[in-house]
Amino acid sequence: MGVESAFGEGYITTTVDALANWARKNAVWPMPMGLSCCGIELMAFAGPRYDVARFGSEVFRFSPRQADLLLVAGTCTYKMSKVVRKIWDQMPDPKWCIAMGACASTGGMFRSYPVTQGIDEFIPVDVYVPGCPPRPDAVINALMQIQEKIGQHSVLMDR
Ligand code: SF4
Repeated sequence: MGVESAFGEGYITTTVDALANWARKNAVWPMPMGLSCCGIELMAFAGPRYDVARFGSEVFRFSPRQADLLLVAGTCTYKMSKVVRKIWDQMPDPKWCIAMGACASTGGMFRSYPVTQGIDEFIPVDVYVPGCPPRPDAVINALMQIQEKIGQHSVLMDR
């Protein structure tokens, strides 16, 4: 007779999930990839007016190994896509990604040969933020969607 049978099926894993998810979703550390003009709104998102510290995400990490959210803001060229992909690969699991703005989501107005038509051509995207550029509160809304996703995560998925 183990602990699981004493407390009921799934008691341990659901409790560990709840604790891990609570800690994770209130301390999402973004890796900022400000590639062009959307980067200006990204800076406003991190500034005192919008106060992203309320969500525990004011700590921007410039090392991918310390980040769990890649925030790509701006036009991504094919040349730059290799760098973005490498940074994504260097981030530890579990990790999430936001495509901020029309360019990062779809290439935006740049239907030209050097520009990727959305970063989902080379990395998985969890939330797309429309706009050219999106307002910082739209990015906060995306962060809240990421927090909701984290709330449904299971530690068993990490193995
Ligand atoms: S979506 Fe608009 S503001 Fe953002 S990078 Fe593209 S052109 Fe610039």
